[in-house]
Amino acid sequence: MTSKLQITAVPAKQVPFDDSPTRWMAEGNCRNYPPATFFPSDGVGVDRARAICKGCPVGDQCLEYALEERIEHGVWGGCSERERRRILKRRRNQNA
Ligand code: SF4
Repeated sequence: MTSKLQITAVPAKQVPFDDSPTRWMAEGNCRNYPPATFFPSDGVGVDRARAICKGCPVGDQCLEYALEERIEHGVWGGCSERERRRILKRRRNQNA
């Protein structure tokens, strides 16, 4: 007895783009760069990423997202990990 394997395409899950909390990402200056560009391993790489972030139309949203989500790695909103830690510390001190 032979059985035939049927492969049925499963439609991709439809995520309503407009409802996504990260829909701003599609408008970022970084959209045409490899993600690794924003996870540099040295200061030169951080500067390179910052240069791309400079003037980004969604830079404020990007930075707030990274701060709220406590994203520890990478350059977000033109800020390195260290800079984001400083911002969070400053905000904690202001609220204390
Ligand atoms: S601020 Fe930088 S990392 Fe954030 S969306 Fe803009 S270009 Fe991308």
